[in-house]
Amino acid sequence: MQIKRNPTRSVTIGKIQIGQDHAIAVQSMTATKTQDIDATVAQTHALEEAGADVVRIAVDNLNDAEALKEIRNQTSANLSVDLQENYRLAEVVAPFVDKIRYNPGHLYHHEREKPWQEKVSYIVGIAQDNDCAIRIGVNCGSVDPEKAAKFDAEDSIAPMIESAIEHCDQLESLDFQRFCVSLKDSDPQKVIEVNRRFAELRPQIPLHLGVTEAGMPPDGIIKTRIAFEQLISQGIGDTIRVSLTVPNPQKPEEIEAGRGILSDIAAGRVRSVVDYGLDTLNIISCPSCSRVENEAFVELAQQVKEMTRYAKDYHITIAVMGCRVNGPGETDDADLGLWCGPNYVNLKRSGEALGAFPYDEILGKLKFELDALIDTQNAAG
Ligand code: SF4
Repeated sequence: MQIKRNPTRSVTIGKIQIGQDHAIAVQSMTATKTQDIDATVAQTHALEEAGADVVRIAVDNLNDAEALKEIRNQTSANLSVDLQENYRLAEVVAPFVDKIRYNPGHLYHHEREKPWQEKVSYIVGIAQDNDCAIRIGVNCGSVDPEKAAKFDAEDSIAPMIESAIEHCDQLESLDFQRFCVSLKDSDPQKVIEVNRRFAELRPQIPLHLGVTEAGMPPDGIIKTRIAFEQLISQGIGDTIRVSLTVPNPQKPEEIEAGRGILSDIAAGRVRSVVDYGLDTLNIISCPSCSRVENEAFVELAQQVKEMTRYAKDYHITIAVMGCRVNGPGETDDADLGLWCGPNYVNLKRSGEALGAFPYDEILGKLKFELDALIDTQNAAG
């Protein structure tokens, strides 16, 4: 599946570039105590080996920053640091990292009398002097209080977007373009909406995607996957992080999950009905998991792909889902949907149930419905 990416600008982070036509970069973060240099270096290496393009190190104070210096000496990974509430930490950490992230909502905690624009100018100056990229990281839970006060308390999206745009404008007014933006929430539907709306307004700015507090696998991966499927299939997203609650040694699972989600989206193995923006046949089949009740599902998904090849030029979406947990809901948005039970496969047309058929009969039933759809499209010209 050739997914058309948004025409974002290219941003260099150490040895890699994100945006434009560059591959979507996968990030993670160390969860060790940063001052335990050996453990943090070991975890950085483990993340790199798992395929991390960027590794974030937690730095909360000057002792962590001191440790960062030594960590930098022991790894060539692309490193990033989150400034958290102390934006002045920028000058201490920037010499040792490739990207610094600041949260517009956190710029109020120190030096309250100083305008935020001055603080941003300072961060940009430090980034320029140290060859660093910047991420403007907006979080639903810590949005700029002035922005939150301007909008209805129920509307968490508008303040996030306004805050992000304001900071993009500020960085650009300083002639600094080496930045990306993230807009995160713990609700995947909000992550989808806020990123879609931002990408419409500023399609040239690379986006870092993530769902905060996603939780433990498999649920944390599923939540994140839903958001990424809907965004990446539409060309939105230049770098990703899957945030998982896992024991320390398992941190590389974040990278494995991220890479798995990306390759599944590219292959059409998705859990939600995804519009890839194609005007041709769109076949999606879930990646399968422990909930599959009949192994014949995997073979069926393959057979559906082969059998429907003759319809490749028609604008039709067919979804093949592996179980009764997600299948009934997830097939609602497809033109033709199949979801597999232990002995029967359920067939739906635009959300309407057409019946349950044995595995050896379903392909014929599907072909009948597909031909009818093709006739309708031909008749409509
Ligand atoms: S549809 Fe069911 S089997 Fe397929 S990935 Fe989702 S939960 Fe697993």
